Amino acid sequence: MKLLQRLHLALIPTIGVITVGAGAVLYHWQLDELKLLERSKWIANVEAALKATRFEIKGIEALGYEISGSTQFLRHIQDTGVLSSRNFLESHINYVLSRDHSRQESNTAIYVLDEMFTMTAASSKSNPFSARSLPDDLYQHVFDSHVKVSLREPFDLSGNIYQSLTGEVRYSSTGAYDPTLLPDDKYAITRPDRSLLVVDGSLIEINALFSEASQYPYISLEFSNGVLEDKIGANIVVKELGSEFIDGNIMRIAGAGLIVELNILDSHYTTIKKELALDVFGYLFLVMFVLLMVIHLIIRRRILYPIDALLSEIHKGGLELRYFKRAKGTDEVSVLKNAYIDSLSKVKFEAEFDGLTRLANRRSFIHFVEQRIASYSTKTTYIVAWDIIDFRRINDLYGARIADQVLKNLAREIELLVSQYQESKGSVNSDYSVCRYGSNTFCVLLEASDENKVKLQIVNSEKALKRAGLLEVLPINLELAMAIFPLCRGEQSHLWQKGLEEALNKAKQIKNQRSLVLFDDQLLDDLSRIDDIERVLMTCTQTHGFELCYMPIIDAKSFEIASLEALVRCPVLQEKGIGPDEFIPVAEKANIIGDIDRWVIENALRDLQKMKRDCDYTGSISINISALELYNNEFIEQICNLCRKYGVKHHRVILEVTETSYVRSTQDTVAIISGLRELGFKVSLDDFGTGYASINQLLLYPVDELKIDKSFVDRISEQASEERMLKSIIALGHNCQAKVVGEGVETANQFRYLTEIGCDYLQGYFFSKPLGYLELCKFYKVGPYDVLSVKVTNLKIADRP
Ligand code: C2E
Ligand code: CA
Ligand code: CA
Repeated sequence: MKLLQRLHLALIPTIGVITVGAGAVLYHWQLDELKLLERSKWIANVEAALKATRFEIKGIEALGYEISGSTQFLRHIQDTGVLSSRNFLESHINYVLSRDHSRQESNTAIYVLDEMFTMTAASSKSNPFSARSLPDDLYQHVFDSHVKVSLREPFDLSGNIYQSLTGEVRYSSTGAYDPTLLPDDKYAITRPDRSLLVVDGSLIEINALFSEASQYPYISLEFSNGVLEDKIGANIVVKELGSEFIDGNIMRIAGAGLIVELNILDSHYTTIKKELALDVFGYLFLVMFVLLMVIHLIIRRRILYPIDALLSEIHKGGLELRYFKRAKGTDEVSVLKNAYIDSLSKVKFEAEFDGLTRLANRRSFIHFVEQRIASYSTKTTYIVAWDIIDFRRINDLYGARIADQVLKNLAREIELLVSQYQESKGSVNSDYSVCRYGSNTFCVLLEASDENKVKLQIVNSEKALKRAGLLEVLPINLELAMAIFPLCRGEQSHLWQKGLEEALNKAKQIKNQRSLVLFDDQLLDDLSRIDDIERVLMTCTQTHGFELCYMPIIDAKSFEIASLEALVRCPVLQEKGIGPDEFIPVAEKANIIGDIDRWVIENALRDLQKMKRDCDYTGSISINISALELYNNEFIEQICNLCRKYGVKHHRVILEVTETSYVRSTQDTVAIISGLRELGFKVSLDDFGTGYASINQLLLYPVDELKIDKSFVDRISEQASEERMLKSIIALGHNCQAKVVGEGVETANQFRYLTEIGCDYLQGYFFSKPLGYLELCKFYKVGPYDVLSVKVTNLKIADRP
């Protein structure tokens, strides 16, 4: 999953949760604010109405004062029966009422009642007291005032707020007046025969508030007289303005003798809540979306773009270090880039350079040379190679640490030589022009106008290079094989690897002279010959172009055929005079020896099976295998399968391994040899005595048989020392419980000598040349004894059955 996708996956749910959480908080906060606002508005309305009511009440009371203080009123109450004074008063009342426009609107009524509770004058013609058309509240209030006056209770003025039959809120003010005394005379307030003046008017503002509230179904306004019970239970009349909550939603606002209960019903908020939720969450989502986009863009620009740029740079540059420039920044991407460059350098170094000598390795040198060839820049180029002769000996004798030190020293000397040489030419050498080509082989690329100059340079520097062996702890005399390959000769440049190896091999074989070989026409011919052989072998492995012949191995005591050595022939090469001793090493180098060995084993076993039928042969078969098979883990299984296929018992098969081609013995090769022997196969060491490590190997690989190399047999009766050597080898073999075979017996003298010194088996042209299958059957039928008796006089058979 891409980084950005992962980020979105983490960011979107997080932002979602934050949005929902923050939205819920914001929503509730907003809702509370809205409620507060709505309530404040209505409280302000109510309070304004109450304030106005105070003035209205004062106005109604002032009206009472004005009327009661007028002469018309005094005259009327002095004698209520006089019609004219009543008329005067009524017209005065109506005049006062008509003067104030609002009084008319508020439907203000004024009544005068005598001590008998009889209405004597009024603003209207009808008598609401006799008809009891007054609201109960008003009637009760006026009557209470009358009772107080009649009972001589102190009474001056009283006001009452009530609701009329039509639901209107009104205020009535009742005062008692004596026609003879001043109102502030103490006696006046207890006189029983006083008249009552009632002024009754509507409270316009409160009514307007109620009618406004009625338009809003969610507003509930209730009013009551402003009488509250205080804490000790006494009634107090509310005069001051104030508000308080009496229940969750209900607000009590009091003032001017009125109490108004305001309730804003929750139903009002249902739609508001929906809209609010939509608004809040809508805006929040928008904000969060913008935030997400901003984060997205920032991450894209600041993090992903640089990473992408680095990725495409890596994609384009791949493993080529030269495409990368170190970053200067200290940010993570720059650090990452520099780390990549560092690892690339390390990987590149490990891939292209040798860890021990720090020179270019074989692979990068080959690549470098191939590039030079491809770009035709080899006009003056030579490859020079040095190989430490018998380096294995240094390794075995002094150990790996010393051997490594020698290699390192030699590498430094060669490097020095090349750089000095290039400096003298005024050119700079590339890191790849000096290389460790093989374990103890070094190669360099040199520019020179002709090969003699290169030769001279090499010869002159030989002594300096040999210094590499002069270690402080122990000076070692280094023998160097040197080869020069003229890469400038374009027509052969493609052969440079094989040519160099061939020239080095030749150089190693030079004895008592400077081991320096220049790859010349002769070597080119040799190489082409090897090339030809390789090509023929390739086709023959695919077309079964091989044949087998057999050479009998004779028991030295009984003169019976003890075994038959299978020898491969390649007819195509045979025609050109190329036998197995030449083509087998080529096949080994070209890695096709495995196929040839497999073919030989299969055909030899098949022939062995046939021989029982054709000539009743029941002896062993000796098969040559390349030492490379000892590195092949499948070899044991392969040979067992073939034995099973052709019904050959394992003990009849002797596997001959040529010890000269032995590579280092490893645990694996020892395991394969002992594995073969455990399964009943016999193992024979071929050409024994030619390699320096023969005895070592005999101890490492316990074998069943030794085949003394033909060169020892050839020298019988030439030198006494050779004969001693032969005796020792036979004794050694017998000590190791191995049989000894004398190979290459050509003369009666050799035959006699070898039988005398105790050789167990003999093989050679003296008995028979390699024979084809049919010839072999014939030879077997006649028997070697008859052949021998012709050649050898006084032939003695020790154990003839
Ligand atoms: P080798 O295993 O030492 O085989 C013996 C070689 O010496 C044979 O040569 C044989 O013909 C020759 N020889 C034996 N007795 C005499 C003698 O009295 N006088 C002379 N002048 N020569 C004698 P050949 O067949 O040319 O084989 C050469 C080498 O090629 C063999 O040496 C062996 O190393 C290799 N080779 C032959 N056949 C095979 C094979 O099937 N597989 C493998 N891997 N190598 C084989
Ligand atoms: Ca052999
Ligand atoms: Ca041999």
